[in-house]
Amino acid sequence: MADVIDDTEASVNFNPLQTRVWASGRHAVRCVRVISETWDVKTFCFNAAEPMMYFFKPGQFVTLELEIDGEQVMRSYTISSSPSVPYSFSITVKRIPGGRVSNWLHENLKEQDELAVHGPNGDFNCIDHPAEKVLLLSGGVGITPLMSMARWHFDTNADVDVTFVHSARTPRDIIFQRELEHISSRVTNFSLSIICERIEIGQSWNGYRGYLDESKLEMIAPDYMNRRIFCCGPTPYMNAVRKLLAAKGFDMDFYHQESFGATPMDVTQEAIEQAEIAVKVAEEVKKAATFTVEFIESGMSIQVPPGETVHAAASRLGITIPRGCGVGICGTCKVHKKAGEVDIQHNGGITEEELEEGYVLSCCSTPTSDLSIEY
Ligand SMILES: Cc1cc2nc3c(=O)[nH]c(=O)nc-3n(C[C@H](O)[C@H](O)[C@H](O)COP(=O)(O)OP(=O)(O)OC[C@H]3O[C@@H](n4cnc5c(N)ncnc54)[C@H](O)[C@@H]3O)c2cc1C
Repeated sequence: MADVIDDTEASVNFNPLQTRVWASGRHAVRCVRVISETWDVKTFCFNAAEPMMYFFKPGQFVTLELEIDGEQVMRSYTISSSPSVPYSFSITVKRIPGGRVSNWLHENLKEQDELAVHGPNGDFNCIDHPAEKVLLLSGGVGITPLMSMARWHFDTNADVDVTFVHSARTPRDIIFQRELEHISSRVTNFSLSIICERIEIGQSWNGYRGYLDESKLEMIAPDYMNRRIFCCGPTPYMNAVRKLLAAKGFDMDFYHQESFGATPMDVTQEAIEQAEIAVKVAEEVKKAATFTVEFIESGMSIQVPPGETVHAAASRLGITIPRGCGVGICGTCKVHKKAGEVDIQHNGGITEEELEEGYVLSCCSTPTSDLSIEY
């Protein structure tokens, strides 16, 4: 009888008509599955205590808010799943040698653990940049946003011709290989090529070897000049792709790339650098024209020299505005500006609507007048 009651509860919980839809913001989520993808890559799947539909644009990311050793740490991770399977979402994380958060996630995050995520965010997606023919180029863990796009096109039976070219170090480093092969075996408008940089002793590999270069690209995707290109991978990989395309006269309006970017400084390093900045700023303040930035809720204000960001000014006052990527991508440091003007150099972490409503990203906004910030 107890089993019957449990079944009823489960069916109510998962009634799609009663399921809420998430919106960009801060969300409490629960880790519900951990999957080993390769020797140094794991996928973490999440849902919420209350059923939620996780709709987002394939290619977008979330920013995790974690507490590690008593400190709040934020890092951004692309959503590797697709909104076509919306009851849960996942991120896929590669261990970075010496990396604080990626190693912590691999070693500590387990099923039933709860954490907060911010998002979804990001301009690198296939909804804002639609196309009938796409070329998805990925290197290493840069596969995550492109996998989300590939899953989306496949699950929705989209009339989109996809050429997916993934580069990995060795055969044991290929992420999502079986699933990509499955997709390519099921539909005719999805072609997959994998390039391994090198083959180690004991490994077998029949595919392409070396780096993605002009001759390989022309062999794999002879019509690449007529495709919208999405590229994500290590900086040298993306630089090489850009150089190759530019040399061919590719129209870069149809080229999009995602950088996993500069990681935030760890707290100790940050404290040292903040102290150094504070000294420099104090000197600058003496000699340069300054603006006053007021943090209304904190009841403090400060003089800032030209070029100092709102986030750095807040830090000098001891005000901690949460920050993720530090380069205007993730949107974590968004604050509301009540008065004044800023020069904002963001990378897609804020929408036009939010800018019109007076929001700014504090990590990449410098005052161009006196400012009042609601924080
Ligand atoms: C939009 C976006 C999407 C992303 N998506 C993904 C994704 O899907 N999957 C994924 O795996 N990653 C993704 N990233 C990268 C991710 O956010 C992290 O940057 C990554 O996991 C490394 O974080 P970490 O804390 O492990 O490394 P960190 O601790 O930040 O260290 C990074 C590097 O710096 C070195 N380092 C750290 N501290 C010091 C120091 N004091 N002195 C010298 N060197 C130091 C480390 O050894 C390491 O090499 C994404 C990033 C962005 C911005």
